[in-house]
Amino acid sequence: MKADARRALEARRASLRQSPDAHHELAEIDAALERMDAGSWGRCETCGGAIGRGRLRALPEARHCLDCTRPD
Ligand SMILES: [Zn+2]
Repeated sequence: MKADARRALEARRASLRQSPDAHHELAEIDAALERMDAGSWGRCETCGGAIGRGRLRALPEARHCLDCTRPD
């Protein structure tokens, strides 16, 4: 799962590198790859809980779980 996500992020980074409008997205992708190296990838930055496989598959650079993303 993590290896697949890393490949997906690296492929997207490679395709976005040419795009002048993708700075923010590239930064998020780089941050996610750094979290993978650090071992914190897949953990919500707000509550520390698991982000969840379905969400990570759809959005490998997600920083927060669905509960913490939801406006209250
Ligand atoms: Zn959370």
